[in-house]
Amino acid sequence: MTDNASLDFAQLGPLMKLAQSLDLAAVAELAERVDLGELIGLVSRMDEGTLAAMKKMMDSASNGKAEVPPIESDFYDIRDILTDEERRVMQQLYDFMAGEVAPIINDYWMRDETPVEVLREGMRRLDVPTLIYGEDIHARAPHAAVLEGIATMEIARVDPSSATFFGVHGGLVMQSFMQCASDEQKAEWFPRLRHFDVIGAFALAEPKVGSGVAGGLTTTCRRDGDDWVLNGQKKWSGNATFADLVIVWARDEDDASVRGFIVRAKENPGYAVEKITGKTALRVVENGLITLTDCRVPESDRLPGCTAFRDVANVLRVTRAGVAWIAVGCAMGAYEHALAYAQTRRQFGRSIGSFQLVQDKLVQMLGNITAMQTMCLKLSRLQDEGRLTDEQASLAKVFTASRCRETVALARELLGGNGILLDHHVARFFADAEAIYSYEGTHEINTLIVGRAITGTGAFV
Ligand SMILES: Cc1cc2nc3c(=O)[nH]c(=O)nc-3n(C[C@H](O)[C@H](O)[C@H](O)COP(=O)(O)OP(=O)(O)OC[C@H]3O[C@@H](n4cnc5c(N)ncnc54)[C@H](O)[C@@H]3O)c2cc1C
Repeated sequence: MTDNASLDFAQLGPLMKLAQSLDLAAVAELAERVDLGELIGLVSRMDEGTLAAMKKMMDSASNGKAEVPPIESDFYDIRDILTDEERRVMQQLYDFMAGEVAPIINDYWMRDETPVEVLREGMRRLDVPTLIYGEDIHARAPHAAVLEGIATMEIARVDPSSATFFGVHGGLVMQSFMQCASDEQKAEWFPRLRHFDVIGAFALAEPKVGSGVAGGLTTTCRRDGDDWVLNGQKKWSGNATFADLVIVWARDEDDASVRGFIVRAKENPGYAVEKITGKTALRVVENGLITLTDCRVPESDRLPGCTAFRDVANVLRVTRAGVAWIAVGCAMGAYEHALAYAQTRRQFGRSIGSFQLVQDKLVQMLGNITAMQTMCLKLSRLQDEGRLTDEQASLAKVFTASRCRETVALARELLGGNGILLDHHVARFFADAEAIYSYEGTHEINTLIVGRAITGTGAFV
């Protein structure tokens, strides 16, 4: 079977340029054979009807080789909100992902591994966290949420797992510091986190408690002199297998309040982590099963800004919005590959993009993506204005994860058999969407949060 429709990220741009350059080459060749001056004179004397008839004839003769529009998944130009400098950084971020991560990512996906050093070096070089958080350790940049959202989208557009790596480190962990850490803790860790000198993980979910963490944490902490002693297990913590520090949330044995700790993972003998294997989604994210056995943490590493679960919820509200942007990027990546495939794959002597049923799928995908992008942009603006509510973040998570799931499924269908091959990338987006659908609050839990807000009646049981 021929496989001439196989495309990768690096080929998308050149393909478009090649398509556009075909006519120029033809013109150059023609110019050697005919008197161009005479030809131009002839054309300039033609009436409009003759010109239109000639154009139709040439389009038909080119048999689908008419100029191919560029692949664009930002149909309403949401990036126009960025300054020129911010736009340049976002483009560099995408170029880094497309140029350095895309060529290796399927291999890492197969091996259940994160390309830690590649991501660390690339993100450090582009200094994206400084763009979002600024140099001030007390506050984020004025429109940090919009920048973080679009950066997350650009990363996820190439690889949702890499966006999750960034979301855990730059979102869950740095946001925990921003909201719950003391000035001394921020001064010690923030610059190193910002420059990826250390990598963070966030440990909230447990083997037996996922959706019910608000009232059901079983990991305990107990004050013992100048230390705290932590016991329990944490499941799913992204980046945990290689993290230098892990933010661990535990219930105080004394007063049942929820407390947060900075666990220095690489030097604490009470901390052990095992990689969760056998995943079928976001395989590039290394999720850990953490076991804390009389894990001693000094009082100076307790996060003083957390005294109850509502403090953790404040962190999650912000990061839930980030996950909505991952869903946007995931859908965009799948769409872009599907569109490129539709332009190059030929059946029945024509490109499949010329079939009505195929165009219907592409338009449904683009409609979903545009609705997701515009919703997330408004969401991030609300966040930057300090007006974002839990319900608004939950609605965005529910809506974008559902539309993402639908979009990647359409993309997978469009590629036919090749839609289940990693080589064509869409299969990876298709699989990864399943985890996006369930993490940072499942579809059901976020639906219940919105349902309670709009009806005034909680339907949680
Ligand atoms: C790839 C991945 C990465 C993750 N990364 C992290 C991380 O870095 N740190 C971290 O702490 N956690 C992480 N998680 C955990 C994630 O947040 C949980 O998986 C999620 O909150 C759901 O919990 P659960 O898997 O235990 O499902 P459960 O809570 O057991 O839910 C099972 C099903 O029951 C439904 N359900 C539960 N309660 C109700 C109810 N009251 N009404 C109706 N339906 C209900 C759920 O919606 C779901 O469909 C990650 C998970 C995944 C898959």
